[in-house]
Amino acid sequence: MKEMLKLSLPRLTEEQLTTVQTFSISGSEWKKYLEWRKEHNETCSISPQRQHEHFEETGEFLTGAIGGGETFSFSPNGIGVSVSVRCDKCEVEQDITDYNLW
Ligand SMILES: [Zn+2]
Repeated sequence: MKEMLKLSLPRLTEEQLTTVQTFSISGSEWKKYLEWRKEHNETCSISPQRQHEHFEETGEFLTGAIGGGETFSFSPNGIGVSVSVRCDKCEVEQDITDYNLW
């Protein structure tokens, strides 16, 4: 007999459905990000030369056509929101959560 997967979704009020959810980075987390970025720019395995070669080979930018180069992730859980940043070039990810805020 097949087991049915039961999903229970919370019933949201009209107000909850129309409330915009935002995530923020604390000053200490931003400082951790800046420190990580400074260090990572020097240690990233994808060098500017490699980026250029990739573009020549594929016609695509590793960091997207309008720049960028990093992706922030917010993972809410029961006690707080963990924040991480990922280098889009080499995909190394760093946790920058300030757990003192939890
Ligand atoms: Zn990198």
